[in-house]
Amino acid sequence: MAQDGRERGLKLADHGRSDWRIVLLPGASDAERFAAKELQEHMERVGGVKLPIVEAANGAAEGEPGRRAREIRVGHARDMAAAGLLPAAEAELGQEEYIVRVVGAADAESAEGAAIVIAGGRPRGTLYGVYAFLERELGVRWYTPAVTRAPKRDAVVIDGGLNLREKPAFEYRDAYFTESNGEALWAVRNRLNGQHKNIGDDKGGCVRYAGPFVHTFDVLVPVEEYYDEHPEYFSEVGGVRLREQPQLCLTNEDVFRIVLEKVRKWIEDNPGASIVSVSQSDWENPCECANCRAVDEEEGNYSGTLIRFMNRLGEALEKDYPHIAVDTLAYQYTRKPPKTRPRPNVIVRLCSIECCFAHPLESCSEKMLLKKSKGTGATFTEDLIGWGRICDRLYIWDYVTNFANFMLPFPNWDVMQPNLQLFRDNGVKGVFALGSCGIGGGGEVAELRMYVLSKLLWDPDADVSALIDEFLPAVYGPGGGELRKYIDELTRIASDPHIHASIYDRPDAGYVTPELLDLADACFDRAEAAAKDDAEALARLRRLRLSIRYTRLQFVPVGAPGRDEAIDEFLKDLEREGIKQVAEHIPARTTMERLRAGVWFSHFARYEDGWNPFDEAKLEI
Ligand SMILES: [Zn+2]
Ligand SMILES: [Zn+2]
Repeated sequence: MAQDGRERGLKLADHGRSDWRIVLLPGASDAERFAAKELQEHMERVGGVKLPIVEAANGAAEGEPGRRAREIRVGHARDMAAAGLLPAAEAELGQEEYIVRVVGAADAESAEGAAIVIAGGRPRGTLYGVYAFLERELGVRWYTPAVTRAPKRDAVVIDGGLNLREKPAFEYRDAYFTESNGEALWAVRNRLNGQHKNIGDDKGGCVRYAGPFVHTFDVLVPVEEYYDEHPEYFSEVGGVRLREQPQLCLTNEDVFRIVLEKVRKWIEDNPGASIVSVSQSDWENPCECANCRAVDEEEGNYSGTLIRFMNRLGEALEKDYPHIAVDTLAYQYTRKPPKTRPRPNVIVRLCSIECCFAHPLESCSEKMLLKKSKGTGATFTEDLIGWGRICDRLYIWDYVTNFANFMLPFPNWDVMQPNLQLFRDNGVKGVFALGSCGIGGGGEVAELRMYVLSKLLWDPDADVSALIDEFLPAVYGPGGGELRKYIDELTRIASDPHIHASIYDRPDAGYVTPELLDLADACFDRAEAAAKDDAEALARLRRLRLSIRYTRLQFVPVGAPGRDEAIDEFLKDLEREGIKQVAEHIPARTTMERLRAGVWFSHFARYEDGWNPFDEAKLEI
């Protein structure tokens, strides 16, 4: 007889009948109560039976001894150990760590003596344990905010030898896409915990920033408020204290005092936050005054003054706010690590903006696709390794879309996994994956990307190919698997070592070929034909296909017959889908009208002919 888990299976339900129940421990948190409800709801969807949720008194259900058969016990690991259901050595689990275990004698048919323990740390461990159980044992999937699959089963039989103890590879996990932001339920079920998902404490909460999320220098010390009286607060470049696009002079004592005061206020105003961002503005211009230069020369980079400043802040805040970390960027001119170690309560977010995303970081020959910043010169991997050596809480700010063309094919399918593995292996603790984030969404294959990323951020060794193969037919209907050919061909083209990909590529990037677009259309044709009786799948396919239509339109020469009509029709379809941006910051209508005139979006809010929409009146989106 085969020795797989199902042979030693526990039957939880049979043809809509079950004598199992869900037991909550005394003192359960809101998130643990929610975990029990999620378990109940999905058990009912799969097994057709609603298990009762009962509350145990003093660790024993209704006065019975600590362990009772046919119970799924859900709760805090510490309470579970106190009730004798976990060994004392397993009482202390991490905030997102869980144990899912069958305890007691298991007998295939009667489940005599067996119970299931789902125990976790606080605030989210137990809830995550329930989700792991539902995915693994009941086959439940939360593919997109709109598509959940909980396949009905005549009998719900789980692995009788089930024994998991798991925690995430990264403490902070955010896949930032319009389609996922604000989708608290989808996000928590896929174990993402960034603040943009807005997961309430009743569902275990999320990692929140006090004050702005990033680029906070000019909010902390505004030019308008201070420059006239104190130009010395701002960065000196070429002997001049800048009023336009300045950074801060980080060796100035008043600057430190002002920043500390404001940071204290942000923390006081945001009691649920655990991080506060003190980070450079989104341009260059680091301070080169004599004091700053002396420090940076000693440290070997502009990150020197920054980390010394952050360490002082961390030290000043540590006693009053032990739960708070101060966070900064290692971005462009601060990408290279200094000699000084950041304190344990300093988070460094290292940004990969210059990198190629067609090849894994370790194998790409291209050091820096975007303009070379001051103070860099090493490869990103060298800087990553350097930060990994000195920083306890290194986060990565990563990019997973084309920001000049959200709908252009983005060839990173074979890149996300090795890069996340590289991050993990170099001590990275958190990843913010910045995806297509235009108003109304609609980025190329956005929903599959955010699903795959949610799994990889939990476990960078997850089977990406299997995830894609599962997702496509589940979300896009019986022919959804056809789209795999498009993904594979894009990936194959981009594996050429000479074809690189930056996040601001134009439509004539080497990996966008006529053959690829032909193949994509053929795949969509077949997928749509297969979905002809499934209106929802068909609607999703048509939305997804907009990216191929967008890409094709880029190559139709001005004056070609039907071109204007095709642009009009495309704009109408964007509107119908609620998609208001196809490039970062720019209204879709503007982008498409520029295209009508034959001009491509080039780089960061600028078109090829130099026209910058932000130079003009405020754009109406
Ligand atoms: Zn300075
Ligand atoms: Zn490359």
